[in-house]
Amino acid sequence: MFSPTQIFSTRRSFLSRIGLCSLASSLPVSRLLSSSGSSVLAAGQAPPARLPVVRNRAPLAPSAFSLLPLGAIRPRGWLQAQLRIQANGLGGHLDETWADVGPNSGWLGGSGVSWERGPYFLDGLIPLAFLLDDATLKAKAQKFIDWTLDHQASNGMIGPASNDDWWPRFVMLKALTQYHDATGDPRVIPVMERYFRHQLQELSARPLRDWSKFRWQDELLSVIWLYNRTDSSYLLDLARLLKTQGYDWQAQYADFKYTQRITAEYIKLEKGEGLKDLALATHGVNNGQAVKTGPVWSLVSGSGADRAAALTMISELNKYHGLPNGMFSCDEHLAGLDPSQGSELCTVVEYMFSLENSLAIVGDPSLGDRLEKLAFNALPGTFTDDMWAHQYNQEPNQVECSLHHKPWTTDGPESNLFGLEPNFGCCTANFHQGWPKFAASLFMLSGAQDNTAHDGLVAAAYAPCEVNTVLRGTPVQVVEETGYPFHGAVHFTVNPAAPLSFPIEFRIPAWAAGATIMVNSHAEPLPAPGSFARVERTWRAGDRFEIMFPMTPRISRGFNDSVAVERGPLVFSYGVGESWVKLRTRGMTADWQVYPTTPWNYALSLDAASPAKCIAVTEAEVGEGPFTGRQAPVKLTVKARKLNQWQAEDGAPDPLPQSPVASDQPEETITLIPYAAAKLRITAFPVCKT
Ligand SMILES: [Zn+2]
Repeated sequence: MFSPTQIFSTRRSFLSRIGLCSLASSLPVSRLLSSSGSSVLAAGQAPPARLPVVRNRAPLAPSAFSLLPLGAIRPRGWLQAQLRIQANGLGGHLDETWADVGPNSGWLGGSGVSWERGPYFLDGLIPLAFLLDDATLKAKAQKFIDWTLDHQASNGMIGPASNDDWWPRFVMLKALTQYHDATGDPRVIPVMERYFRHQLQELSARPLRDWSKFRWQDELLSVIWLYNRTDSSYLLDLARLLKTQGYDWQAQYADFKYTQRITAEYIKLEKGEGLKDLALATHGVNNGQAVKTGPVWSLVSGSGADRAAALTMISELNKYHGLPNGMFSCDEHLAGLDPSQGSELCTVVEYMFSLENSLAIVGDPSLGDRLEKLAFNALPGTFTDDMWAHQYNQEPNQVECSLHHKPWTTDGPESNLFGLEPNFGCCTANFHQGWPKFAASLFMLSGAQDNTAHDGLVAAAYAPCEVNTVLRGTPVQVVEETGYPFHGAVHFTVNPAAPLSFPIEFRIPAWAAGATIMVNSHAEPLPAPGSFARVERTWRAGDRFEIMFPMTPRISRGFNDSVAVERGPLVFSYGVGESWVKLRTRGMTADWQVYPTTPWNYALSLDAASPAKCIAVTEAEVGEGPFTGRQAPVKLTVKARKLNQWQAEDGAPDPLPQSPVASDQPEETITLIPYAAAKLRITAFPVCKT
């Protein structure tokens, strides 16, 4: 079995591998890494050597698919532009304007913040830097990596000595595994080995508590990652100890009791019980992270019931707290079905990370459907177009972003402002992982655990990208060109270094009845929605195939029989007129309030028999900021009437009236734009009586 520590046994051989051998003796690794060049390939050109995919090692159970190492997938088209927007905004500059991840960070040896914020930032900065192959961003990340790797305590502990909480180390381990996947740096595995041995010894005296108890599955991912590379059996003992000390999420969802909006009184916040089990079990971010618990643990247990637990958990969250943007409400505790409730940005990106890992382990296409819904709606919908400001909480029905106390369960009055760190700075540090990890999960590897002869590719989610990997011993490049999710056509070009037979599986979303697949202009059998369609053939360089997804508008039903309009993976909103008022300058950015300048209280006039037929579609080119309001690549029009009795109080719309509703106002035609393009919006509409 491949062992990176054997292959890159010295710092010099590591530098040699990444093409910097002549410099290896004189420059620090940080400077060398930052000088690697771009690797975008022309069609047919041999892809670069990559670290191989490392699959689960027995006795761990096999995953349905394997995630490819960071760097194997590169963004193209609008996705590359979106990552560049992130890098040009707070994503690439946060350390220059926010002391919590600045030069005095505890994770750089300074006396500043030493808890989760440094690792959070790094967990997204690393994939952003390597996906964009950006030397400046790599150098920023390398400072944190070098400090962490070079300052391990003699007992094996990593991180700032000023706190010994296990939780922030969970996040740093996620960052280190990605960094190793991208670079093969030989320092990483020995540091992780010493750390985990220390933790196994220490946990009986200093067990998991509060955040680490409820987020143990995140460390389990890193323990499994290391086991697959070292075969060290103590890591399986550590995995079992984490499970024993960690919170039992599966039991919570086998008999789900938190079906109502959670209040501060219920969790006894005023009595200082915010870190007690009841508060942490109903905490949004914890639940977002917990979605992957069953699948990740199933790799150790081998249990099919554990593997299926993510689907149960998602179903219960959706039933009692589901929102039309694909999220569950959490502002910041579980908040019920009213689309005026919010979802915390940390939960959006953690839920996405859970879905990416769960999809790889379980192989259920519905996990990819939800991943795309979050990535294309809730994620971009909670940032300004330039990604210099974000919200703590976003709402599907969000008609004012101002200082107000309603409607949050437990959050403060700044929660839906756009800014540097509205309400609390966790999301400021944690949001960075959203886009890059999505981009790195677009393709996965299928096949057997111990036999590369069965290798194949899986298109798990769709966005413009290219993948460079090795299948069955042969380098393969696949280039994906598309305006998806705005347009329905997805074009692929396959470039194996030599003719090669292997399967490619395509996720066919549950909404995609009528999708078609063409290979070199020949039609394949119609794929079933909610499945993976498999095309197996001998691929030759330049082979092309195309998936055409049906982009017919759809209606979904929600709270009080309201409706939301969807098309493909996109959710659509009525964009309320916006007046942006600066509240204060915050270093290189600012905090903003947003006030409505137009009415928003519309009910849709739909034909009850075939509501989607009442919606007209206009498509335009997909530009470099497709989620911005000024250049939405697709717009819908629909008939509506104002509903005067539906008003807002304290910045939040009154609860949606039960549909159908009566309105004596004249019928108008209103335009709907992608959810993310409307920063003030109505997404869940009442329906007029017909
Ligand atoms: Zn947060």
